[in-house]
Amino acid sequence: MQSRSERNAPEGAPQHPVVAIDGPSASGKSTVAKALAQVLGIAYCNSGLVYRAITWSLVRKGLELDRESAFKTAVRQMKIECRIDENELHVQVDGKEPGEEVRSPAVNAAVSRVAASSWLRERLLPVFRRLAEDRSLVMEGRDIGTAVFPATRFKFYVDADPKIREQRRQNQGETDSIEERDWEDRSREAAPLRRAADAVLLDSSEMTVEEVVRRMLDELRKRGFPVPEGASVP
Ligand code: C5P
Repeated sequence: MQSRSERNAPEGAPQHPVVAIDGPSASGKSTVAKALAQVLGIAYCNSGLVYRAITWSLVRKGLELDRESAFKTAVRQMKIECRIDENELHVQVDGKEPGEEVRSPAVNAAVSRVAASSWLRERLLPVFRRLAEDRSLVMEGRDIGTAVFPATRFKFYVDADPKIREQRRQNQGETDSIEERDWEDRSREAAPLRRAADAVLLDSSEMTVEEVVRRMLDELRKRGFPVPEGASVP
């Protein structure tokens, strides 16, 4: 049975304040989302980790992603567990945490194809929303402000010059064709990557992490987010 607050809440309205941070690959959103969550003293959730963990499991099984019925059967059989521990989202598939393998070249190459499935996205929507049922959080991804928590007032879209983003990925030593992944994420039908009309656009190309987080804190205060007294960026 639904609680009263659930019946009254518009769809995608979190039960606790949620900061939504979206943007393309290597825009710096993970770094700033993590830093912001730390300054606010709330949980940090990287929604991409869930898509990556599922892709990791499919890749390990050698599944052909284009075979829709096999894909759905494999996902249905997966035990996907999301839990927040020490203020950070952890994901296990069939009892295993994929660790660094979620950033392997094979996962990087396949994750956007997996994430394009509207069937999968529909199944994950309640999983992401449930995370805000008993706590406040910062969630980053591609569709957090547009589809997961469209009703939150606290939205940012972090972007950066494509050349700088490419450089950042190379510096991380990862094999990741971000241009291709961004194209797939932007052009898919199901919850494509785009800036929500009410999201604050921040171009991180020429900004330090501290500068971006400071701007976010200012904006959150203006929009009425319960920023703890004395919260500041070191
Ligand atoms: O953020 P990260 O690069 O780890 O995300 C990996 C992929 O997961 C993205 O390229 C995108 O295809 C998918 N994703 C998504 N929606 C989200 C988060 C990630 O489609 N909210």
